[in-house]
Amino acid sequence: MENLTNNIMHQFTLGNSILEISYIIASVLFIIGLKMLSHPDSARKGNLLAAFGMGLAIIATLLFHTKDGEPIGNHLLILIAIAIGTIIGWMIAVKVKMTAMPQLVSLFNGMGGAAAALISLMEFPHIESSLIAESGLANGHVLAILLGLLIGSVSFAGSMVAFLKLDSRLGDIKASWIRYINIVLLVVLIGFLIGIMIFGETPEASQIYLYLMFVIALVYGVLFVMPIGGADMPVVISLLNSFTGVAAAMGGFLYNNQAMLTGGILVGSAGTILTILMCNAMNRSLFNVIVGAFGGKAAGVSDAGGAIKEISLSDTAVLLSYSQKVVIVPGYGLAVAQAQHLCHDLDKLLEDKGVEVRYAIHPVAGRMPGHMNVLLAEADVPYDRLIEMDDINPDLPNTDVLIVIGANDVVNPAAEDDPSSPIYGMPIIKARDAKNVIVMKRGMGKGYAAIENNLFFADRTRMLFGDAKETLQKLLAEIKSL
Ligand code: NDP
Repeated sequence: MENLTNNIMHQFTLGNSILEISYIIASVLFIIGLKMLSHPDSARKGNLLAAFGMGLAIIATLLFHTKDGEPIGNHLLILIAIAIGTIIGWMIAVKVKMTAMPQLVSLFNGMGGAAAALISLMEFPHIESSLIAESGLANGHVLAILLGLLIGSVSFAGSMVAFLKLDSRLGDIKASWIRYINIVLLVVLIGFLIGIMIFGETPEASQIYLYLMFVIALVYGVLFVMPIGGADMPVVISLLNSFTGVAAAMGGFLYNNQAMLTGGILVGSAGTILTILMCNAMNRSLFNVIVGAFGGKAAGVSDAGGAIKEISLSDTAVLLSYSQKVVIVPGYGLAVAQAQHLCHDLDKLLEDKGVEVRYAIHPVAGRMPGHMNVLLAEADVPYDRLIEMDDINPDLPNTDVLIVIGANDVVNPAAEDDPSSPIYGMPIIKARDAKNVIVMKRGMGKGYAAIENNLFFADRTRMLFGDAKETLQKLLAEIKSL
């Protein structure tokens, strides 16, 4: 009998040790993976490494996690849920277009927030009576549950609204009253949290308040993202991302699970750092973004006017071929047209002719942070050709030709000239400083912020209309024929 007990104890301790070691390995893989994501060359491997760490943590939990000495049950149900999630996630990831990445990120981020909120809803009724001493529910365990619920629900609802907005299924609602309702809701939510902690005596007695808190947090999440639009969306996406990380970290506290805790903290802190960097890059304060005060004029209204001047393919070919310095400004339209490879062919062709070609990279060009870097890396454009906005702007007056390919908002001078513009204050690539500007786009369509662009009407600007891919194909042929 004693032997059997010893055996069980031994297996239990061994399983526990394997679990702990797996979590440590998973945490290390998350950290290395995240580090590798910071460079396009290593990003793919970093992603796989972090995914492997996550897989390891899940398998170890399924095999070795115990509660009160009992292994976890419902293995079949858990495996079915994992299989369904994996198939759906895999199918979406394979099918999604690069330009729809931000929507995908918002959707997946929302799922993370929902999972954190559900964990809190499920765990609250099971708070152990040993934790409820004389002070009722006032303990760290309950605080982690409530914060997980609050932050997870806000992140879920906010991410869903961001998803619908990015997918153009929902417009901005810029009513100032939303701001005041949001402040009231936030105060109410904090009130509920403190109320449950201080006055809640048992989980049963406080359950109704928990559900109320859940619903109010969802409403707050919707109203929080609703008025934010235009150029502020990238900041909001990364802010919601950090929320989900923090909510997941709360789950880590709750289950005393190191892998979940490390993963959550990494996502939370990376998201927060990215949010701060984006705010700095966009010349915005976080408070300003959250209260939705980017400019005052309604989108679509502009003072732009005058005549545009077109340029032919052959003139463009001559101008580019006989230049010394050319700068390409890539934007969302380049990604839509999937013309990154042709764009690289153009820079190689010009380089062969002795022209210096560089790319001007705006931090929010495209539809996700780093979109242009990823897009151009896909076409093997050398990384040292990509010059950040702040570094290239001073050199633009010495640039013979600046060619804008599918960019609009990121070169719009209204950000500097028009205090009533929705993008006023956003730093831009100072395209108008170049000696000649050629804008490649399909027509006079507006950018994400839905405003006119005076650059298109400027003296030095010539428009080269057409789909970026087709135009680049023809332009390459034209340059080769010179
Ligand atoms: P914009 O969205 O401002 O403009 C893109 C332009 O590309 C359009 O004016 C369109 O004009 C043109 N275009 C579209 N398809 C094609 C095509 N096939 N060939 C050629 N041109 C095409 O892009 P920017 O990159 O300049 O700016 C990004 C905007 O998105 C900013 O306002 C930013 O704040 C916002 N944003 C950025 C996010 C991020 O994280 N990077 C996330 C969410 C929003 P036309 O129809 O005439 O062709």
